[in-house]
Amino acid sequence: MRLFGCVCGQFHSPGAGLGMSAERVSVPVPFYVIEHADGVALFDCGLPTSMLDREESYLKVLQAQEMDVTLTPDETVASHLARLDIDLAKVRYVVVSHLHFDHAGGLKDLPNATIVVQKREWEAGFDRDVANHYGLRKRYFDWGHDALQVHGEHDLFGDGSVRLVPSYGHTPGHQSARVRSAAGDHILVGDACYHCEVVETRRFPEFSDHAAMNASLDRLLALRDPGTVMVFGHDPAQWGAEPVLPSARD
Ligand SMILES: [Zn+2]
Repeated sequence: MRLFGCVCGQFHSPGAGLGMSAERVSVPVPFYVIEHADGVALFDCGLPTSMLDREESYLKVLQAQEMDVTLTPDETVASHLARLDIDLAKVRYVVVSHLHFDHAGGLKDLPNATIVVQKREWEAGFDRDVANHYGLRKRYFDWGHDALQVHGEHDLFGDGSVRLVPSYGHTPGHQSARVRSAAGDHILVGDACYHCEVVETRRFPEFSDHAAMNASLDRLLALRDPGTVMVFGHDPAQWGAEPVLPSARD
């Protein structure tokens, strides 16, 4: 089984919103490709391809709040999968850590996949008040896919290679994944922790449930074995010159 990590654009924001001390920061938007004998699964699927258009309406909303994203044609989910020679139509599962647009945005391009989501996240996405509070935008995830709603831990392929682990708090039903592949043992943390400094500082975003995030992060850290690599949600240090995971076959 192989695990790849692909960067689908950059998110730009005041540093404080991401728990960073610089005034403005730019962070990567990664998603992951798991190539298993029983099918291809993605963990998250990056930004909406519609954001290639600088006039996209939600981009305007973000810009009004001092945020922005940039995405180039070679960073879309379609471009990354084409380079890996994986047919978009054959992706079996898209596990979404949560329903923010920078994690579920690629769903539109993955028409035949089953979404694998925590039940409480899916319900939050369709509850108008909760969705508004957490910024879960239906237009980026409500495309009529089959949705496998799981509650708590879930063994995706039934062989222990990909275990979904609830890590609630960033959003009501956020989840992470532990992936044991040829490259070792990785915990795909998602936005349960934006980057490595937050492990110490616990500077979580304002909208999130901080008590739940603290407990979730403690639980994820406790899962580590000596060789386990934590791959954080938006850590610039993990996607620079030496990315934590390859995005292409060698
Ligand atoms: Zn995010």
